Amino acid sequence: MNEETKIPQATAKRLPLYYRFLKNLHASGKQRVSSAELSEAVKVDSATIRRDFSYFGALGKKGYGYNVNYLLTFFRKTLDQDELSKVALIGVGNLGTAFLNYNFLKNNNTKIALAFDVDPAKIGKEISGVPVYDMNELEERLQKEDVMVAILTVPSSAAQTITDRIVKTDIKGILNFTPARLNVPPSIRVHHIDLAVELQSLIYFLKNFPPDDTEN
Ligand code: ATP
Repeated sequence: MNEETKIPQATAKRLPLYYRFLKNLHASGKQRVSSAELSEAVKVDSATIRRDFSYFGALGKKGYGYNVNYLLTFFRKTLDQDELSKVALIGVGNLGTAFLNYNFLKNNNTKIALAFDVDPAKIGKEISGVPVYDMNELEERLQKEDVMVAILTVPSSAAQTITDRIVKTDIKGILNFTPARLNVPPSIRVHHIDLAVELQSLIYFLKNFPPDDTEN
C-alpha cells in the first residue's frame, strides 16, 4: 500500500468504484475506456476522473482513452486485491446476518471470516459458512485469525465497550453501522455508516434540491 499514501484520500475512496466498473469492462472484453464513458458509469465528473487517474500514472491519450488492463493491474495492487483481508462481524442481528449472507467475494478479496455475539441461541451456529463465536473469545480469536477489520452491527449502547476491547488487538479498522460515535486511538481508522442518517439526508436533498432532470 506504499503507493497509496501518495494518493489523496478523496481519490482513494473512489478507487473501489473505478475498480468494480473496470473489472466488468474487462470481463466484457473491452481494452480501453474514455473518461467520458467512465464518468457516465460511475457518476463522477470526467475532470475529476482525469485528475484521479493522473495519480495512478495513467495518462489517457486523446482519441484512445485509458488502457483497461493497465488500470486494473494498478488497482489490484493498490487495493491489495491479491491478499485476502480478513474481516470479523460483531453482532449477528438482522443487519449482521444480512452481511454474512451477502457474498463480498463477488466484488473483491474481502471475506467475513468469523462472527461474534452474546446470544447463546446464536453462538456455535454457522451462517453462510461463517462461524459465530462467544464474545468471551473475541480478543483471542481476532489475534489468532489475524483479522484486519471489524464490522459493528451491535446495539449502539454496546458499541464503545466493544471498541475498547477491539483496539487492544491488531485490528486496523472498524466499519461502524451503529449510530454511536466511537472514540478510538489515532492508529485505528473508523468508517461510519448510519443507514438512517443517509436515508434522511437523501430525502432532505430531494426535497430541498430536487434533481434537475432537464440535463438528461
Ligand atoms: P439489527 O440492529 O442488526 O437489525 P436486531 O434488531 O436483530 O439487529 P439488536 O438488538 O440491534 O438486534 O442486536 C444486534 C445483535 O447484536 C444481536 O444478535 C445481539 O444479540 C447482539 N449483541 C447485543 N449486545 C452485544 C454485545 N455486547 N456484544 C456482541 N453482540 C451483541
